[in-house]
Amino acid sequence: MISYIGIGSNQADPLSQARLAVKTLQQLPRTTVLKCSSLYSSTPMGPQDQPDYVNAVAELDTQLSALELLDELQKIELAQGRVRKENRWGPRTLDLDIILYDNQNIANERLTIPHYGMRQREFVLYPLQEIAPDLVLPDMTHLSQLTRLCDKNGLTIIGQL
Ligand code: ATP
Ligand code: MG
Ligand code: MG
Repeated sequence: MISYIGIGSNQADPLSQARLAVKTLQQLPRTTVLKCSSLYSSTPMGPQDQPDYVNAVAELDTQLSALELLDELQKIELAQGRVRKENRWGPRTLDLDIILYDNQNIANERLTIPHYGMRQREFVLYPLQEIAPDLVLPDMTHLSQLTRLCDKNGLTIIGQL
């Protein structure tokens, strides 16, 4: 299955956090990292009294199920010091979200795929466009339609993985 993972960090050297996360993704069982976007700087969602984020998107080819993949991503978040806090969208060392998994729609207690925020989030859409410009969502929306409607909100490339 092809899956796209959104990577985000704004604590404890975010560039290194993102690079380490990709190295760890490369070591996941039954999984190959096919592509990685550039590293981007973005303005925080929600609380504004926190540092800017570093974001990227990675394309995986995996034989893990979506739930197995989520388990692995959450293990990586914890290994890199993620502390789950009450307030959503607060600062974090690492966030790994499943943006898309195959061409599937998934809705259960632990997973919503496509990721519920992907359509509005510049820090997901533009890195995704960089590595998958012709992508079509399960509902047939073209990625390019979404980026066209989405303000970059200061999103800038700051490096490579
Ligand atoms: P947001 O979901 O708005 O990006 P967040 O990434 O900070 O916020 P988390 O604290 O990382 O939120 O995750 C909260 C819960 O979201 C997780 O425990 C997980 O079960 C659930 N979840 C639902 N859909 C997904 C998905 N597609 N990818 C990752 N987690 C998901
Ligand atoms: Mg998230
Ligand atoms: Mg998350």
